[in-house]
Amino acid sequence: MVDGLICLDTPDEMDHDTKESIRPSPMSRLHKNVIRATDIAAQFWCEKQMELGYLYGKEATPEMRNGAEVHKNIETIINIPVNLKPESYPDSLYRSLYTSYLGVSTLRERGAARELNIYGSINGFKIAGKIDEIRYEDGKTVVYEDKIKMSDREPSSAQIASHRMQVLLYIKMLNDIKRGLYTFSNFARGWGTDKMRITDSFSAQLKDMGIKEGDMTVGSIAALYFSSLMDAGDISDMAFIRYTNAQSGNIIKSSRVEYSQNDFEERLKYAMVYWNGFRDAKPVDESEKWKCNYCPFFGKQCTTWYQAKQKVL
Ligand code: SF4
Repeated sequence: MVDGLICLDTPDEMDHDTKESIRPSPMSRLHKNVIRATDIAAQFWCEKQMELGYLYGKEATPEMRNGAEVHKNIETIINIPVNLKPESYPDSLYRSLYTSYLGVSTLRERGAARELNIYGSINGFKIAGKIDEIRYEDGKTVVYEDKIKMSDREPSSAQIASHRMQVLLYIKMLNDIKRGLYTFSNFARGWGTDKMRITDSFSAQLKDMGIKEGDMTVGSIAALYFSSLMDAGDISDMAFIRYTNAQSGNIIKSSRVEYSQNDFEERLKYAMVYWNGFRDAKPVDESEKWKCNYCPFFGKQCTTWYQAKQKVL
């Protein structure tokens, strides 16, 4: 780890470009301008696998396909239905911000909201994620993350460790917004919302829904969403990861996660050393090379632990 180079509380975008790194930034190599919360979580499974996924593509696993369907079904049950058909990126961003705003602004009455977009900044890198569910419990907002499995087998501690990082990051991002460390202005500047225009057909759909003219820009709906987050209950230091069997719908395990600032920031600093270009993507340690058996890049793009068959002479 490179000490003294990481500052976690800087919300200004692009300041990472001013730091000298010793190799090209992964952001440019991987053609990214946003780090997803799931990217950071994946670093705690295998950082190299995360990077190879961007370079060579990731095939959807049965868990991922079933997960998307289960998430959609639960969202339909819990969230207020929003029937908007986006035709452009600004339309899609507007819809996501609008559904997130509806979920948070009605959280106290409805008790739960699903699929909330969340934004933040670390070291000047834009960070984005989607929180599966928040619940209003004992005056606090509690984060829930759902993971889908194809059997009743309990998740391994290595799987939980990676998922744990994801929910801890959500807690940090929610707290940063509540404490004014990441504001609507940071978001608007970082995402360039004032240059975004929604399509005429999308405006017409909003009009039909009774949305006021002044709330029909990406910036205005983002401002409403950020202010609803500021007004939401305090963020609980406790979060939960629920592992569900896709076939039976049974919850296999509910893992409780506690936020400890020092522990979390140490892990985050470690992850950011990679994004700042101070370290190549790290393969798993030898003690965890069993993970390679489940890796689509094993023996192809990654040969770190691959024992090639010896030729018989
Ligand atoms: S083969 Fe192993 S070390 Fe290489 S990317 Fe996959 S999991 Fe990581």
